[in-house]
Amino acid sequence: MEINWDKVGEQAAELLAALIRINTSNPPGNEAAACGFLKPIYARLGLEPVLLGPEPSRQSIIGRLKAQKPEGEPLLLLSHLDTVPADAKEWSKPPFAGAIEGGEVWGRGALDCKNATAVELTALKLFVEAGHQPRRDIILAATADEEMGGERGVGWLIENHFDLLAAGFGINEGGGFSVKVAGREVFLCQTGEKGICWIKLTAQGPSGHASTPPAETAMTRLLAALNAVMRHKQPLRLTDTVRVLVDQVASQFGPVARVAARAALSPLLEEYALRRIKSAENRNLARAVIHNTVTLTGLKGGDKVNVIPGEVIATLDCRVIPGFTPDQMLAEVRQIVEPFGVTVETIATSTGGEMPADSELYRAIGETLRAHSPQAILAPYLMPGGTDGRYLVQKGVKVYGFIPLQMEAGEKEPIFRRFHGKDERVSIQNLIFGARLLYDLLVRFCAR
Ligand SMILES: [Zn+2]
Repeated sequence: MEINWDKVGEQAAELLAALIRINTSNPPGNEAAACGFLKPIYARLGLEPVLLGPEPSRQSIIGRLKAQKPEGEPLLLLSHLDTVPADAKEWSKPPFAGAIEGGEVWGRGALDCKNATAVELTALKLFVEAGHQPRRDIILAATADEEMGGERGVGWLIENHFDLLAAGFGINEGGGFSVKVAGREVFLCQTGEKGICWIKLTAQGPSGHASTPPAETAMTRLLAALNAVMRHKQPLRLTDTVRVLVDQVASQFGPVARVAARAALSPLLEEYALRRIKSAENRNLARAVIHNTVTLTGLKGGDKVNVIPGEVIATLDCRVIPGFTPDQMLAEVRQIVEPFGVTVETIATSTGGEMPADSELYRAIGETLRAHSPQAILAPYLMPGGTDGRYLVQKGVKVYGFIPLQMEAGEKEPIFRRFHGKDERVSIQNLIFGARLLYDLLVRFCAR
């Protein structure tokens, strides 16, 4: 079957625009409306869709293309239907109008991640229309609530209907975009993400009039404890993902830069390697993927200038390298702050995870990419933030972030910097690119 890719691009753009026009800003989400829109499309492809969720307005949609006599574990194509909110005043086009102009689709979710919903569905549609028979089940799921932590989406589904998502492998948002390294295009496949440990620190002390202060108060205790936490140097923590990434990226450099980049893997030289990264944003990103981070995000206590408060509170957002647990992070913070009389408790935690960069699916992604662009390099990367993938990783699903997006012509910054930003948009060329790669991947990985 000869595929007319321009036509595929037009249809994918229309599909994405229609999804953008259904406002699923979370909160409140209201993903059920988007599920209702997708249901007949799923049904026409024979995916037998089901809509499920903890509340009528918070639904996710799951469909399945069944293999006759399956050989191999199912592949899950995952995306989320909710978006972060958008303030129309900051945008040059209305964020929920789904305008298609100048070869681009505009609106909230165009990159995070209704584009993923659109290209996954488009690729599977092409697979069905081309008459391919799957040798393994292909599950297509578009879910609720990712932007608020996924408890009403993938988290809820795993608790209540895991059989519907149970797969050996998964493709999700979180990676697939390209960056330029020494003139070559490197596609970053997300193979892991950091865990989360949100901590509340509480200090107590005598309250009273501030004209006759005691030497120690809740405030002085908390400040001393926070200073100790902030001064505590987080050691280098390497993962296989980062080792492979640094090695692959460094191999593109000349001899001096190559040695400098590899220095990031040495506890003695990492500071030197990080200082060589010119952009502060990239430097912070590099630092975050090789360390646990502890960030002070809140301070509360005292509302009268002349009264000493009896209790003050701080919150810490700690992000934890895979292999290191949130409990270990909590213990580390506790050990530092308890001598100051400060107590710790967790607000929320999630464990990070890491997937092998040599699994059957990862290899198929690499082969697919090279078949398209022989010069392109596939490299694994660790995400400092989190996606719904973490729920599935805990269940043993090998989920990779790979929604292909090329750097746009004339674009200097990697495309992921536009996620959650104003004027979010994606080019139709990139939708074609994504659908094309995912279609080829489905044929390679799933066709009989
Ligand atoms: Zn997302």
